Amino acid sequence: MKKILLMCAFSAAILSAEAQTKVIAHRGFWNTENSAQNSITSLKKAAEAKLYGSEFDVQLTKDGIVIVNHDDTIADLTISENTFDRLSQHKLKNGETIPTLEEYLDEGKKHKELKLILEIKPHKTEEQEKEITEKTVRIVKEKKLENQVEYISFSKNICQTLAKLTPESNISYLMGDISPKELKNMGINGIDYYFRLLGNKPEWIKEAHDNNMKVNVWTVNKKEDIKEMKNLGTDFITTDNPLEAKQICEDNN
Ligand code: MG
Repeated sequence: MKKILLMCAFSAAILSAEAQTKVIAHRGFWNTENSAQNSITSLKKAAEAKLYGSEFDVQLTKDGIVIVNHDDTIADLTISENTFDRLSQHKLKNGETIPTLEEYLDEGKKHKELKLILEIKPHKTEEQEKEITEKTVRIVKEKKLENQVEYISFSKNICQTLAKLTPESNISYLMGDISPKELKNMGINGIDYYFRLLGNKPEWIKEAHDNNMKVNVWTVNKKEDIKEMKNLGTDFITTDNPLEAKQICEDNN
């Protein structure tokens, strides 16, 4: 009897851990000592903090290198119109060099428990979107990181290309203008929407879950908003305050 009770308690613990909302550091864990957005350090700090994932953004340079950067410019240089050599003369705020996708993934591979939430930024032309998406997926596959990388994008075109190239991956759409069921029909298997949008449309959380899709929200920084999203049953919260969010999500009350 005691054994059965123990087993029940153990199963319940597993179930509640499964159901718990998990935390993703937005652009890595950057607002901490010696870190910077989208830096290798921000990735290491996210791993040290034992978060679910570290989010980062990728862009394509003029000479076809996939680099990690949020904006489509670095200083006053447009990334798509400049070579990697020229762009990499600029440093990140913590003094690091701008990482290439390859360098970022090589570091990520050392932290097996940390998911790498890879955002492919929309580009000006469909050709550029095709090129960066194909290159990104190829690099991820070459490094055998298919199970550690999850994809997100504001571009429906990029999400649909991902669904063709890597249908087994978690792919979430960010824009917020398409219902979960419609996305599922396009082969896109997750939503990652602005948290206030889902706060006003909680039926989309249920619709996503009913369709076996994961729900993530961006970018949730205030305590009360983190609690609200947790209570709505989102699977993930993307935040600039990962330590506080983790504490709230792990709190059973
Ligand atoms: Mg991003």
